[in-house]
Amino acid sequence: MLKTKAYAAQNPKSKLAPFTIQRREPGARDVLIKILYCGVCHSDIHQARDEWGQASFPMVPGHEIVGKVIRTGSKVKRFRAGESVGVGCFVDSCRKCPSCQEGLEQYCESHISFTYNCTEQDQKTPTYGGYSSQITVDEKYVLKISNKLPLAKAAPLLCAGVTTYSPLKHFKVAKGQSVGVVGLGGLGHMAVKFAAAMGAEVTVFSTSPSKQKDARRLGARHFVNTKTLKDSAPLQDQFDLILDSVSAPHDINFYLNFLKREGTLVLVGAPEKPYALEPFSLIRKRRKMAGSLIGGIRETQEMLDFCARKKITAEVEVVPVQKVNEAYERTIKGDVHYRFVLDLQTIGS
Ligand code: NAP
Ligand code: ZN
Ligand code: ZN
Repeated sequence: MLKTKAYAAQNPKSKLAPFTIQRREPGARDVLIKILYCGVCHSDIHQARDEWGQASFPMVPGHEIVGKVIRTGSKVKRFRAGESVGVGCFVDSCRKCPSCQEGLEQYCESHISFTYNCTEQDQKTPTYGGYSSQITVDEKYVLKISNKLPLAKAAPLLCAGVTTYSPLKHFKVAKGQSVGVVGLGGLGHMAVKFAAAMGAEVTVFSTSPSKQKDARRLGARHFVNTKTLKDSAPLQDQFDLILDSVSAPHDINFYLNFLKREGTLVLVGAPEKPYALEPFSLIRKRRKMAGSLIGGIRETQEMLDFCARKKITAEVEVVPVQKVNEAYERTIKGDVHYRFVLDLQTIGS
């Protein structure tokens, strides 16, 4: 086993603190990766604080992992030592069910091994995430990262990137469509970049007036401060698709009413409490509501290659791993522009 430095939460109330974990020696099909950077996703916070239930401790969060290959197993064909690679929200899945067979591993019908707060395929060995110095992953679940992408800014693509790219593609966002993005955080700012790159006219709905200028710079045409909005009538029936990335409870009916006939509200944000749905917000215009979970390996690679081609990366604030607790507090306050990324080179050897 490989002794590995990490940062872990010991219970839902504890701060993250140094912790030692064991990684497996790479097997024939494994890749051992030196982790250079890991993004701080709001899902890390929900889970470290057990806001979704079923959290298991000690927990090493982190699923926006980028780094360099240290060494590979004897049967690994796709990777070589020194290459830049990424690992996202899962490190294995059953590989046999219809979803896995279709490359939609995130919807695995048997057991998906999320990168942390979960177990390997044996359903016993705990998984530990990217707030650590190295990780061993089967090559099938490792992504290639183009040299055109700066690594720290590429890290958030592994979750925030694919989570927003996937529904925009699935619901066929195209040139000339009106797309709303609710919440300008880690996911939201990637959604704005992708929707704009796909040719949509993007409107940001935000509770933070200070983000207005950035929203435009990121590609949005319009900005709505939802805290001070007095007259929402001009927004009714205007949008083909609205992507809601808000991490806290809020009124979704407000946004449903902004959809055109048959428009879709896609929920990617996952607050800890259920939403109240006003049925007429859907019924009156045959509107739809959908959810979307991250993306499969094939689509994640497609998104990374799209980003390399279009020069799309995340806006990041890189901090040493020792500042992770501060990064959590600032993320909760919405004080992040627009993703914290931990520098794991500061963890020590
Ligand atoms: P984040 O960076 O904290 O962004 C969330 C944004 O929501 C904030 O920046 C803020 O934007 C807005 N917001 C926060 N509190 C609010 C409130 N009380 N009322 C209204 N707006 C509020 O979080 P993230 O990392 O982007 O993640 C967002 C959510 O998506 C989380 O719940 C996370 O767990 C979930 N998630 C889901 C998936 C998936 O596969 N579906 C994947 C990753 C993450 P403004 O300042 O602009 O208002
Ligand atoms: Zn995430
Ligand atoms: Zn499966």
